[in-house]
Amino acid sequence: MSNRRGLLIILSSPSGAGKSTLSRRLRDWDPTIAFSVSATTRAPRPGEVDGQDYHFMSQPQFKQDVAAGDMLEHAHVFGNFYGSPRGPVQAAIDAGRDVLFDIDWQGAQQIRNSALGAHTLSIFLLPPSIRELHRRLETRGQDAPDVIAKRMEKSWDEISHWDGYDFVLVNEDLDATEARLKTIIEATRLRRSQQPGLTAHVRALQTEFEEMQ
Ligand code: GDP
Ligand code: ADP
Repeated sequence: MSNRRGLLIILSSPSGAGKSTLSRRLRDWDPTIAFSVSATTRAPRPGEVDGQDYHFMSQPQFKQDVAAGDMLEHAHVFGNFYGSPRGPVQAAIDAGRDVLFDIDWQGAQQIRNSALGAHTLSIFLLPPSIRELHRRLETRGQDAPDVIAKRMEKSWDEISHWDGYDFVLVNEDLDATEARLKTIIEATRLRRSQQPGLTAHVRALQTEFEEMQ
């Protein structure tokens, strides 16, 4: 249906539960989904590409962007600033594309309360266990032990906001979680509020119906 409105798809979870992995799989599945590349003041991890994984920036630059109103939402997480640049999100939504966010509960709350709030789909990922969460952070092999310890320490803060989300998935089997995510997205795209073109279609059906009487 023409005229479709883009959906803001928000994925949150404690660090290590699988957001980045699943968000990559969703983008491979449907390349029309735009990924909101966050700005961050944290240092790049090995292999992370500036402009692709994050926009890496200095703290003064980040604060300047926030002051200029250029961030749709922003938060302080694990000692660094993170935010979603507004421009690309608005452009994608206006073009009828869905936008995927990998952000924490504070960002999710800010987007839900923004002017775009009516068009959000929020999904929270829970780990099967805290022990498994720890194992995943270790096997990811990207963070120093002290960084992992900090993320584990903060995991409960994030998990405690699970009940503010539209959907909650326990990410035990990766393929099963991916399939469930796709089902949720496909169903939400069919929400009446996401299909403004339906009104015109129903009007055309009515005209046709009346002509046939
Ligand atoms: P990882 O989650 O362990 O891969 O570590 P990151 O440093 O990539 O992200 C840390 C946390 O910041 C995660 O909970 C992300 O969801 C969150 N985050 C990333 N980008 C943003 C953003 O733009 N806004 C907000 N509010 N949170 C973000
Ligand atoms: P996040 O982005 O939430 O911090 P990642 O996507 O980086 O988490 O996942 C952390 C680690 O756990 C990665 O090494 C990833 O391959 C692994 N992982 C993700 N989901 C699963 C799963 N369902 N089962 C086993 N390992 C997983």
